[in-house]
Amino acid sequence: MNSHTPIDAVQIAEAELAPAFKVYTARHLQQIEQLQQLPEQLKHEMEVVSSVLPFRVNNYVIEQLINWDDAINDPMFQLTFPQRGMLKPEHFDAVEAALATEDKAEIKRVVNEVRQALNPHPAGQMEHNIPRVNGEPVNGIQHKYNETVLFFPSSGQVCHSYCTFCFRWAQFVGDQSLKIAAKESGQLCDYLREHPEVTDVLITGGDPMVMKTKNLRAYLEPLLEPEFDHIRTIRIGSKALTFWPYRFVTDEDSDDLMDLFRDIIAAGKHLAFMAHYNHWREMGTDIHRQAVARIRETGAHIRSQGPLLNHINTEADDWAKMWQTQVELGIQPYYMFVERDTGAQHYFEVPLAQAWNTYRDAMKQVSGIARTARGPSMSATPGKVEIQGVTEINGEKVFVLRFIQGRNPDWVQRPFFAAYDEKATWLNHLKPAFGEEKFFFED
Ligand SMILES: *Cc1c(COP(=O)(O)O)cnc(C)c1O
Repeated sequence: MNSHTPIDAVQIAEAELAPAFKVYTARHLQQIEQLQQLPEQLKHEMEVVSSVLPFRVNNYVIEQLINWDDAINDPMFQLTFPQRGMLKPEHFDAVEAALATEDKAEIKRVVNEVRQALNPHPAGQMEHNIPRVNGEPVNGIQHKYNETVLFFPSSGQVCHSYCTFCFRWAQFVGDQSLKIAAKESGQLCDYLREHPEVTDVLITGGDPMVMKTKNLRAYLEPLLEPEFDHIRTIRIGSKALTFWPYRFVTDEDSDDLMDLFRDIIAAGKHLAFMAHYNHWREMGTDIHRQAVARIRETGAHIRSQGPLLNHINTEADDWAKMWQTQVELGIQPYYMFVERDTGAQHYFEVPLAQAWNTYRDAMKQVSGIARTARGPSMSATPGKVEIQGVTEINGEKVFVLRFIQGRNPDWVQRPFFAAYDEKATWLNHLKPAFGEEKFFFED
């Protein structure tokens, strides 16, 4: 602080640097000033959609990320605000009619019915990936691929804002039967003790970065003990760099968080911060740059991942610019995903063939340093399937595919072929090429 600066100016500067977190949900749509300039009909549609799909947005996103002069076409607006098209017309009409009755039981019934029709738990995550300790299913853990266990701490099952396309949307609608969450890490530790093959623990949610540092520390510290030496990497999946970068710079316990990161690294582990990004527009503020720099200073490594989405990021130029910006900030591009088969998929989906073209056109524009993102990749029931390309073999046009991860590790890296289909948007739309009856992994 400069001693000549008037004290009021200093206070104002600090307030600008760190606004108080303010959150708006479906009940607060009328209180968002910037929305009031939009047509009434749009706000009504938002009310209908947000009674089915989760909606939550904060002051940083509203004030610093969204361009309100062209909101409807703004990727940050599409990323956070509900749009009519996110529900299919028949679902929209049913919910709109139910809301008009003002009958709570009726609204609940219709909303639940629509949610159930939106495949709330894609890729068999409720049936296939929930592990057991002493024969009992463990809450808040998923274990699909040998090396990596996903952990969902119960206090991290919310985000600073919600993404409209979120494949974990069912976690946020308050229906306990749709929820995956662990109250404490005791069962995680029991499970990891029995599974020396696990090298990575991925803390996910929601967003674990909404937790107070002391809660996060309580979950993570036990993993730093020698009995968990087989855990080599701790990953934290988070959108907080986009939705609340103050978490890492000016929040009350930001410094404690950086200390926790340092402690994990001092214990000899790799700390992988898996940052969710969809657009270079998420990276433009000073506070974002400061947050990235602070995380990197601890020795943690930031990687980026996110899906390709209609209405948000279909342009190859935007991907190239995003990856290049990330590289310059010290963030390594990791995955480009295909929008999953849940929630508002029909609104955001892009044909696989188009997704591959976007990927390729983006790759062409950047140097090898920024070509580290794998994809486009579908997180499907049998595994993560990458579209490697489109080609012709003996006169038949085909997709070339491979497993990046497989429910069976032996499937990994094996190329396989599907008949080309211009419209297909997900693995289950594809048929084997060359007249074969089944894909090799379907036996
Ligand atoms: C993507 C994913 C992982 C991690 O896979 P990596 O290829 O190691 O990044 C782990 N578990 C599940 C269920 C996943 O979808």
